[in-house]
Amino acid sequence: MTHDLSERLDRARAATRAAGIDALLVSPGADLAYLTGYEAKALERLTCLVLPAEGAIRLIAPGLEKSAALASPVPDLGIEVVSWGERDDPYALTASLVPGASRIAVDNHMWAEKVLALRHAMPAVQQTLANQVIAPLRMRKSDVEVGHLRDAGAAIDRVHRRMGEWLRAGRTERQVARDIGDAIVAEGHQRVDFIIVGSGPNGASPHHEVSDRVIEAGDAVVVDIGGTTAEGYCSDCTRNYVVGAAPDAAYVEYFEVLTQAQAAQREYARPGVSADSVDAVGRDIIDSAGFGAAFLHRTGHGIGLETHEEPYIVAGNDLVLDAGMAFSIEPGIYLEGRHGARIEDIVVTTPDGIEVLNTTSRDYVLLD
Ligand code: ZN
Ligand code: ZN
Repeated sequence: MTHDLSERLDRARAATRAAGIDALLVSPGADLAYLTGYEAKALERLTCLVLPAEGAIRLIAPGLEKSAALASPVPDLGIEVVSWGERDDPYALTASLVPGASRIAVDNHMWAEKVLALRHAMPAVQQTLANQVIAPLRMRKSDVEVGHLRDAGAAIDRVHRRMGEWLRAGRTERQVARDIGDAIVAEGHQRVDFIIVGSGPNGASPHHEVSDRVIEAGDAVVVDIGGTTAEGYCSDCTRNYVVGAAPDAAYVEYFEVLTQAQAAQREYARPGVSADSVDAVGRDIIDSAGFGAAFLHRTGHGIGLETHEEPYIVAGNDLVLDAGMAFSIEPGIYLEGRHGARIEDIVVTTPDGIEVLNTTSRDYVLLD
């Protein structure tokens, strides 16, 4: 692990230099975990990796977090932990570690109060976003990372396979979600990230979570669930269920269109094609069947240490896919007030195609 981390730090440093940035400043979050293996708490007190284009890498940490930092891979990576006390100014301390810098990059999720305090401490230094350096690294998964994503995919598939134990007419979405949450952990995740149980008309709202609606016979139900494994990698998979009685004819009709669109996207996605063209392949099929306006969102998002990260599979993203990129393919069709459906798989680009990490049936599953 330390070996992988130090390679990441080397690559980040090379990319920082190439981008004409004097230092990366990375606060707690997925970027910090990716670079150092340290899953630091995001607190009001500043914790910040200072990765200069040249010279020693340091981690600024509040005194009370010092032992946590020292227990992480940070010391083994040769990163000095510089702690600060309650009466010290950590922003001035940060500035003192990057003397002569004219351009620094802060991680994209750094809290605004910290970004502004850094600006105040270094008024002449231009600030830019670190994603330009870190996202291209995080987007290309190593074999070890792909293995972790494969395990996460298998774990969430096991939960979908058990859906018939919990999802039935007469129960509320919230009751079903509680059981799903227990299973997400029991089947191999460390935590639950989200649970969507969209029954009947609620299925037409892509980010509906759960409600106290009682599921009725004949309801189509969108179940989109995900968690994070002990290794820190995320799962995310949507399947569709029909409960108690046959669905209505409109649902059957557009579900077929959706199935074709999602299959065409899986068939098409590979290194060398652009992210937006993957979106277009599915959207064209849904458009020509007359459901274009009902496909309310982008096709997908990258996934790794976070459920949503780059690359985004969306119109206008001309990023050319490269081997080792992990992302979702999840077109949906939503008829407001009636029902909806989404089919979502996580895939990873291989040298000449994709590996699909979710393997349960993509057809809607009838449960009694
Ligand atoms: Zn997703
Ligand atoms: Zn999802």
